Amino acid sequence: MTNLNQHWMQRDIAALWHPCTQMKDHEHLPVVPIKSGSGVWLEDFDGKRYLDAISSWWVNILGHANPRINARIKAQLDALEHVILSGCSHRPVIELSERLGALAPAGLGHCFYADSGSAAVEIALKMSYHYWQNRGRPEKKRFLTITNGYHGETLGALSVGDVSFFTHTYRSLLLDVIKVPAPDCFALPREQWVSHAAARFAEMEVALARHADELAAVIVEPLIQCAGGMRMYPPEYLRWLREACDRYNVQLILDEIAVGFGRTGTLFACQQAEVRPDYLCLSKALTGGYLPLSVVLTTDEVYDAFYDDYASLRAFLHSHSYTGNPLACAAALATLDILEEDDVLAANRDRAARMARAAAPLASHPLVGDVRQTGMVVAIEMVRDRDSLEPFDFRERKGLEVFRHALSRGALLRPLGNVIYWMPPYVISDSEIDFLAEVTGEGLERVADSL
Ligand SMILES: *Cc1c(COP(=O)(O)O)cnc(C)c1O
Repeated sequence: MTNLNQHWMQRDIAALWHPCTQMKDHEHLPVVPIKSGSGVWLEDFDGKRYLDAISSWWVNILGHANPRINARIKAQLDALEHVILSGCSHRPVIELSERLGALAPAGLGHCFYADSGSAAVEIALKMSYHYWQNRGRPEKKRFLTITNGYHGETLGALSVGDVSFFTHTYRSLLLDVIKVPAPDCFALPREQWVSHAAARFAEMEVALARHADELAAVIVEPLIQCAGGMRMYPPEYLRWLREACDRYNVQLILDEIAVGFGRTGTLFACQQAEVRPDYLCLSKALTGGYLPLSVVLTTDEVYDAFYDDYASLRAFLHSHSYTGNPLACAAALATLDILEEDDVLAANRDRAARMARAAAPLASHPLVGDVRQTGMVVAIEMVRDRDSLEPFDFRERKGLEVFRHALSRGALLRPLGNVIYWMPPYVISDSEIDFLAEVTGEGLERVADSL
């Protein structure tokens, strides 16, 4: 490693505390100082390039330094950088709201903005709780979710999550949330996904029946539990869930923060189940990975429950300083333009097929227990033993070995524990997909050699 990278790494470690990181790891693991990005590639200060296989934490869908998004932000910058969204408005946020309302399942015509995914989840939870108060049902105040979900890091969002790695330490601070087993189809052949999900749904049905009178809402990540290790389930489960929520008079929050904007093959994952949630939470790829922005879309029914004379104190008095930032909205509008003008989702069908072909040979590797895919996400799960599916203990840090190897080869893969996954920007080429498969295969060999 030459001097420039070293220089920035040292200054970094002296001044920063990195997210989701045991800082002591950086005694032997480099922080990668990135100087620039272009398309799927990131470049460090020594000129080494890395393929961004994880879309910079699932946000970047149209490549780094996308000229069309850059131009739109630059134009907006000269007009208006920011304005308060209470009592004021601006063109990008109005246009974005109209477009999201038109693209989402019909009936989600009211957009409430924030600045992060976690904040969007907090809003959906508070809105649902408050909705039942305004409707005269204050006893409907609890939430139900499925195991192994992830909805963010703030305390409300953490409460409805179930990845113990994130929640365990804080459990005494969290809300008392009801959890039922997820319809996770780990290591099952595709033909068995629906029957497996149906068996799991029976437990959801029981929990809904038992708790309906105290439940405000159910919250789930549709189709892919991303932070929970890219565990997947079929759209049928969402259809049954919507139908049961209606039957038991419980609201449905769909957290599409990670899977929205084409990741699962459709613009929104819930479209594969043809369901409309009461709250649709979006963030991450909303701005093409450029700027922090999130939004909760909701229905007339919810909106109307808050709409009253001021003195009734029914209003939703929630805000964040940067709510609906114009630069972020401009990036989102450019992102939607590109998705539409270039018919990116149609092109993604070929890309997803290429990813499937590239991943297929890895499925027979002795350390691979499952290769699964939904749209533009491929997950390759490492196990100690293929037959028993015995996992590697997290302390063995097998994912970290793959991470290190990939970095040395010029790919930014960042396994979730033992789960290696590809979740690249939608501008990845066939040869770049093949390169990822090659590096992943080598990483598996490294792990095998270490045993
Ligand atoms: C990332 C994520 C969040 C939290 O979003 P932040 O912007 O990191 O606060 C919530 N839900 C899901 C499904 C996510 O993947």
